[in-house]
Amino acid sequence: MIAGAGIGGLALAAGLRKQGLPVTVFECRNSLAEVGAGISLWPNALAALDQLGLGAEVRSLGGQVASGGVRRPNGTWIQRVDRDAYETALGEPLVVIHRADLLDVLRAAVEPSSLRLGIGVEGFEVGANGIEVRLSDGSTEIAQGLIGADGVHSGVARQLWPQVHLRFAGYTAWRGIAQFGLGIDHVPGETWGVGGEFGFLPLGTDRTYWFATENTAEGGRASEGELTYLRDRFGEWHAPIPAILAATDTTGPGHVLRNDIYDRALTGKWTHGPVAVIGDAAHPMRPHLGQGGCQALEDSVVLSRQLSSGDPPAQAFQRYESARRRRVRRIVRESANLGRFIQAPRPFAPHIHRLASMMPEGLLIRHLAGVAGRDALD
Ligand SMILES: Cc1cc2nc3c(=O)[nH]c(=O)nc-3n(C[C@H](O)[C@H](O)[C@H](O)COP(=O)(O)OP(=O)(O)OC[C@H]3O[C@@H](n4cnc5c(N)ncnc54)[C@H](O)[C@@H]3O)c2cc1C
Repeated sequence: MIAGAGIGGLALAAGLRKQGLPVTVFECRNSLAEVGAGISLWPNALAALDQLGLGAEVRSLGGQVASGGVRRPNGTWIQRVDRDAYETALGEPLVVIHRADLLDVLRAAVEPSSLRLGIGVEGFEVGANGIEVRLSDGSTEIAQGLIGADGVHSGVARQLWPQVHLRFAGYTAWRGIAQFGLGIDHVPGETWGVGGEFGFLPLGTDRTYWFATENTAEGGRASEGELTYLRDRFGEWHAPIPAILAATDTTGPGHVLRNDIYDRALTGKWTHGPVAVIGDAAHPMRPHLGQGGCQALEDSVVLSRQLSSGDPPAQAFQRYESARRRRVRRIVRESANLGRFIQAPRPFAPHIHRLASMMPEGLLIRHLAGVAGRDALD
């Protein structure tokens, strides 16, 4: 049984179906509709999707990015990555896709009768005959194995490790989609300022996915509206940032998403007997490497492979944890460190930008390949 039909839960259900293993996925939301955001899928995630037989479809629905870099708000480059070097090292371009399209592809690979929308997992007891899982409609179900794919606020992880708490990272992130084609004039990438950044990537030829971060208090909201605030905040930054924000739709809820950023102390444990967690439920990470969803996909592929052995879930879960722990811990740590650099306040920010500009491109690319290259999962 899987709790949560997000990226990790759906990918795992698709993987288990491929292996011929029965599964039921409970999702507390009534629909899987996603609004207002893209997601970047690095070659490591595309390789995981290939193993599920879904890579080609995802590539066909997204925009491709193989060059880019990091700039200062005045447009001067801190780091720039050349297309050939990138593709040689990472194996193929990064794909940027609307989250709704990614979930549609994953959902279509899941046996329809195994997906139960509008029913949340509320808790569980492990007994001699299996796991008794309490559901939000008041019923209970017995499962041989339970996998929490229920995201950053995971109830499954909370029940297993009540002492582990989320940590507010000290900043918030906005995401949106603009009716704006980057064309060949605008090189995608990120722009680092003082205490925040703005990034943009092509979502096909006529749309752009953008994101921004800023140091703020937890739970804050812009009184004048998020988009109005952002247009003012980034109004003086280099082209095409003001134009991207101007071309972002203001109507309807959810067109600009705002999420406070959290991670948590590394528990080192993602399994307990016949219960396991994957994706953000196991290892929430800051978004700066664009790897949270990619790692959820890797988890799903590794775990479905382990479960196909036919061993009891507890043994397969243990092997999944051993196989994944080292790599994921490194990525969680690096995402946090990168976040600290990017969010650095005055007077540190200009020094950090200068240091980052001194990193040789070859070293940067080699490092990126270890995190996000096609072969990184193997
Ligand atoms: C600003 C920002 C930008 C990001 N950019 C990227 C990026 O470019 N690339 C990338 O790879 N990652 C990115 N990420 C990270 C990525 O979004 C997450 O890592 C990814 O969504 C995790 O997938 P998941 O399946 O573990 O969790 P989720 O996608 O959060 O899915 C969890 C699901 O569980 C459901 N659920 C919750 N509780 C219950 C319950 N009790 N019972 C049943 N269902 C439940 C939820 O409704 C949800 O559908 C970004 C994150 C942020 C905040």
